[in-house]
Amino acid sequence: MRDFSQDHRWLSINTATVRKQRGEPWPLPKILDACAARGIRAVSPWRDQVAAAGLAATAAQVKALGLELSGYCRGGLFTYTDSASQQAVRDDNLRALDEACTLDAPCLVLVVGALPGALAGRPAHRDLALARAQVAEGIAWLVGEARQRGMPLAIEPLHPMYAADRACVNTLAQALDLCEALDPAAGYAASGSSARPALGVAVDAYHVWWDPQLEAQIARAGRGPANRILALHVCDWLVPTTDLLEDRGMMGDGVIDLPRLRGWVEATGYAGYSEVEIFSKANWWQRDGGEVLDTCIERHRRCV
Ligand code: ZN
Repeated sequence: MRDFSQDHRWLSINTATVRKQRGEPWPLPKILDACAARGIRAVSPWRDQVAAAGLAATAAQVKALGLELSGYCRGGLFTYTDSASQQAVRDDNLRALDEACTLDAPCLVLVVGALPGALAGRPAHRDLALARAQVAEGIAWLVGEARQRGMPLAIEPLHPMYAADRACVNTLAQALDLCEALDPAAGYAASGSSARPALGVAVDAYHVWWDPQLEAQIARAGRGPANRILALHVCDWLVPTTDLLEDRGMMGDGVIDLPRLRGWVEATGYAGYSEVEIFSKANWWQRDGGEVLDTCIERHRRCV
């Protein structure tokens, strides 16, 4: 297992971590500058942040600063109620895929969606099995497009508390079932590269830490023709957690055994970035962004 205690060369910052600072929301160009100034080598930006800053301008800034991406957030939300909304979903995912290519991301992260309308508080139905079928259908279609572009898709299973409104793929086992069914060869037809699968997973500690099958499923992810683990996201689970979405903890402040989790992931051969992703309305978003980044660096050395 890699030694993270001496430097932060494998730290990436998910840019949501410093996006909503009180009084001074940080735009993406400022986040990128602040990361580069601290020797942080990678980031994972969100589509709305990139849209606000401009896609071409962001790609140029990333390159000029010598940054890499550890992922691009995000595609997915595949469920629909009629053919018009299905087409809108597909069009939006193609745009996300093309943006990921322009930014030279290593993968497009997928939050797959759940009951249509639920995120807006108006679920169209109660048929979770239908939602899961539409998700499988949507990924099956998108992976064809992803293969042609050489851009891997990373399914991110979300904690089951989001099964109604954000993602009805809730365990690593479920995500890997989809990978193995929809991308059995785990390779690109177009590029000829077999080093990365066309379809893999993003392992986010916050979403999967509780799973009794976690160790076995992480090992399973590494056993196929190519390692399915395309991203590792870290933060902590606070006790108590006061908000389902925006009360993630800084590494070391909660109950997730992050070094153990990272050990399992690295035992598969994963040697990529460890991406800090913290949505924290009441704590870290209330602080100066520079303080947050400095704390991420220090905790990443000590607690991940
Ligand atoms: Zn994540």
